[in-house]
Amino acid sequence: MNLENASHEQLRQWEAQLSADYEAIVARKLSLDLTRGKPSAEQLSLADALDGILKGNYKSADGTDTRNYGGGDGLPEARALGAAILGTSQAETLAQGNSSLTLMFQCLLNAVQFGFNGPDSAWGKQGKMTFICPVPGYDRHFTLCEQLGIDMVTVPMGTDGPDMDRVEALIQQDPSIRGIWCVPKYSNPTGVIYSDAVVSRIAQLGKLAQPGFKIFWDNAYAVHDLGEPQPLANIMDACKAAGTEDTILQFASTSKITHAGAGIAFVAMSEQNLKSFRAFLGAQSIGPDKVNQLRHMRLIANADQLATHMQAHAAILQPRFDAVLTALDSAFTGSDLGQWETPAGGYFVSFDTRPGCAKAVVKLAADAGVKLTPAGATFPYGKDPQDANIRIAPSVPSVAEVVGAMEVFVTCVKLASVRQKLAS
Ligand code: PLP
Repeated sequence: MNLENASHEQLRQWEAQLSADYEAIVARKLSLDLTRGKPSAEQLSLADALDGILKGNYKSADGTDTRNYGGGDGLPEARALGAAILGTSQAETLAQGNSSLTLMFQCLLNAVQFGFNGPDSAWGKQGKMTFICPVPGYDRHFTLCEQLGIDMVTVPMGTDGPDMDRVEALIQQDPSIRGIWCVPKYSNPTGVIYSDAVVSRIAQLGKLAQPGFKIFWDNAYAVHDLGEPQPLANIMDACKAAGTEDTILQFASTSKITHAGAGIAFVAMSEQNLKSFRAFLGAQSIGPDKVNQLRHMRLIANADQLATHMQAHAAILQPRFDAVLTALDSAFTGSDLGQWETPAGGYFVSFDTRPGCAKAVVKLAADAGVKLTPAGATFPYGKDPQDANIRIAPSVPSVAEVVGAMEVFVTCVKLASVRQKLAS
């Protein structure tokens, strides 16, 4: 289907046929959901051995009684696992509670309120604060900024990472820029992996930016490959080579490895930043949940076991991604109705409709019993200026449900596009 050169009569025929198809779908009274970027119950069950795994032995490798207070940095073996995921050293890496998002919030708060480099460096004392947000991106990053009064400016995501010309220009033009959000591997939602060249340019940003500039490197999908593990250049190494290691804050978690609500989160940063962040953490807790960290170490003791575990996740996820991509390929390849990437990992497929159609597609799908992430959610303030991006999250429904939901999605995209063209 190609709308640009279609005659009015052709468009009217398509609209009549698609409307009939759509009404037939509505009559089926479906109830399907493609909104939830979380592991399915089947995936969570891969880690159910966590339950009872300690069998009364609470001692960690160095003899620490994990039931007691203390050990604010996290268990050494858990820090080593976090370091393996992030490509950092154990000394640079902390293992904490269940949520990396919490660690991101804490780092932002520390930067705003106290400053990573002493009270004078607190962003809150320096007037307006702005973050660069590659879009489409992860809505919860935007919510954190909103909550702390940080303005957001967008740059487009390309197929190899953010538009670095725009990022560098913004940093040079706008002295209120304090940081940038990055999801460098299987970016949420586009699935893009940052190229070596982009990583290298990001590592140089600290030379262009105001003092105190921070890169929030949220590597949530570092080991979430669907097939062969894909490489990502090491940002900490690149920053050290550039002399900018104080700009980089790295995050990961086991949320989509073990149990999403009961995992371990990791944060890695330079010695200078750690000094500040340890003081910040130490004031609010006498140590993280080391018993849970030890349970994780008994289940996944090293990088090899992690790789095997992630292959089991991939075996569950792959058919769901295949169902999405097969539906998009057969409906839209060669058409002018939409664009998408084929991700090699992560949790999402990002689909761009013709400009101005995303909200209509989401509404049509909802009325036909298929929930989609609200249009605009992948942009700061929920506003997609093109009204084009839709995030598809296929991990939770069964394969049959994904197939059914995609049949509806495809019909809704076609119908919304044809109706918009007819009205134009
Ligand atoms: N970062 C990204 C990019 C995510 O997509 C998600 C969850 O969807 C998270 C962070 C949440 O991580 P956590 O469960 O460790 O807080």
